[in-house]
Amino acid sequence: MLSHDILIVGGGLAGLAAALESDPNLKVAVISKVHPLRSHSVAAQGGINAPLGNHPDGADDSWEKHTFDTIKGSDYLADQSAAELMCRSAASAIYELEHMGVPFSRFPGRVIAQRPFGGAGFPRTCYAADRTGQVILHTQFEQSLKKNVKFYDEWLVTDLLIHNDRCLGVVAYDLKSGEILPLKARAVIFATGGYGRVFLRSTNAFINLGSGLGMAYRAGVPLKDMEFVQFHPTSMFGKNILITEGARGEGGYLLNNQGKRFMEDYAPSAMELAPRDIVARAIQTEIDNGRGFEDQYVHLDLRHLGKEKIDKRLPSIRDICINFGGFSPIEAPIPIQPAQHYSMGGIDVDETCASPVPGFFAAGECACISVHGANRLGGNSLLDAVVFGSIVGKTASEYVKGSQEFPDSESYILQKSLNRKQELEDKAKQDSGENVFQLLNRLKAFMSDKVGIFRNQKDLSEALEQIAQLRQDFKKSYIRSSCLRYCQEFVTFSEFDSMLDIAEVITLGALNRTETRGSHFRTDFDKRNDAEWLKHTLMTQKEAKPEINYREVEIGKYQPVERKY
Ligand SMILES: Cc1cc2nc3c(=O)[nH]c(=O)nc-3n(C[C@H](O)[C@H](O)[C@H](O)COP(=O)(O)OP(=O)(O)OC[C@H]3O[C@@H](n4cnc5c(N)ncnc54)[C@H](O)[C@@H]3O)c2cc1C
Repeated sequence: MLSHDILIVGGGLAGLAAALESDPNLKVAVISKVHPLRSHSVAAQGGINAPLGNHPDGADDSWEKHTFDTIKGSDYLADQSAAELMCRSAASAIYELEHMGVPFSRFPGRVIAQRPFGGAGFPRTCYAADRTGQVILHTQFEQSLKKNVKFYDEWLVTDLLIHNDRCLGVVAYDLKSGEILPLKARAVIFATGGYGRVFLRSTNAFINLGSGLGMAYRAGVPLKDMEFVQFHPTSMFGKNILITEGARGEGGYLLNNQGKRFMEDYAPSAMELAPRDIVARAIQTEIDNGRGFEDQYVHLDLRHLGKEKIDKRLPSIRDICINFGGFSPIEAPIPIQPAQHYSMGGIDVDETCASPVPGFFAAGECACISVHGANRLGGNSLLDAVVFGSIVGKTASEYVKGSQEFPDSESYILQKSLNRKQELEDKAKQDSGENVFQLLNRLKAFMSDKVGIFRNQKDLSEALEQIAQLRQDFKKSYIRSSCLRYCQEFVTFSEFDSMLDIAEVITLGALNRTETRGSHFRTDFDKRNDAEWLKHTLMTQKEAKPEINYREVEIGKYQPVERKY
């Protein structure tokens, strides 16, 4: 049986940071459903935050100010010591990436360039033009090869194996051979990224189905704060490809159909650089009130920035507009609308990235520590992935060195992989039933319509009914393909279970939380309610149903006050 000390599921920024920080004397492997360089991290555009103070307007920046902005941005739901840990670590994380070889953009004088981003008191977002994720991921990957990390590329993990409160390993599907195989591990780290494709309109890669969260949940690990889903203000209308916040950071304007910079009505001082939840709601309000174009989008205008700045700072945005929109942002405004973008919630872990189950850890977007609370600031997610990716590598290494091999784990793991194989064979033998791709389309459509930016009791209850119906229909689904090599139908089939669980936990969390906080806006409870709701939601699967618990938010120096921008 394949066996490792540490098995890292996910080859994005968090997974590779974990691989690089793991003890080199341990047997470490990274397993990923796509080649690591195709992980969604590669698409990150705008940048990564650290209070370096390189920008002329940033000289007074500090990790304390970064911490405060993160907590205020989170609508006071972030655990303050965790946010502080991330922001304190930010500058050294950036210098470490620089020393690894990440080619950041530079200011004259050769210092790392920084740009303003939403909700930040100072320009503190470090970037490499608008390809920041790509350059970091490629550099980390090179370093991982140099360190001889073992990679299982194009292997989909289908089950997390937890038995008697211990994590034992995983079951995986090797896309190339079509086989289902058990993998034993002393420690498993999930760095499986976001679940964006549970929604129809999303900036996420199509691979982001979120099965990591679902597997953890089904194995009995709690999911935290899942009702907090980030909707990015600016995705290209029609395609929902992200147009980075960096475009507004460089000075882009948001205009309605009357040519007005409407953000002055919503966030008069921060304007276009208010936090994402506020800007996304402002755009949606303009559209809903007839001040959008074709009732569906508004304009992001970059024309006044000029060709030179656009070519130098936003070259990929220019390419995206030309290749996917057929126009140049130098000459025409970009039609944009909000779309699902990021998951603030995730697998419940502490500041060391340990879950409540010994031997199971999580970091990056799939985890909730929580540093982003109810709303993440732009540029803080790459930072979270790098900082906590490194931390989880160390935590898991220490755990393995201090733990004993679990007896009899192999027979349990083997049996679980045989069960998975049998289920697959049974589904492939069936010759009629529901088509899983059609079920997926149904799920996405009502999640975008009913569990989106503006929520209410009626829509959320209806969404829960539709999820229950989809579960019934999913039982009748079958696999039409006769070949199991590179079988995308099996990939979707095996992840769909998780998507239903994620959709249910998001929707139920949103229905229960009868207040408005950060990204979670209830039109029927439109005020923040600290007396009742300054707490984290935890959902644990018990007898195939979600059990809801709550946990206090860890408040430090910053007492919750009303957010104003
Ligand atoms: C278009 C876009 C632009 C962004 N821009 C920025 C930005 O400028 N700044 C910023 O801070 N944040 C940005 N973000 C957010 C940020 O990029 C992500 O939150 C972050 O990169 C997530 O990293 P990760 O390592 O957690 O996950 P990912 O990079 O998504 O990697 C997940 C990995 O898990 C693997 N995986 C998943 N499920 C399985 C499974 N079942 N079996 C095996 N492998 C599995 C995948 O193959 C992949 O390797 C952006 C996001 C998007 C979508």
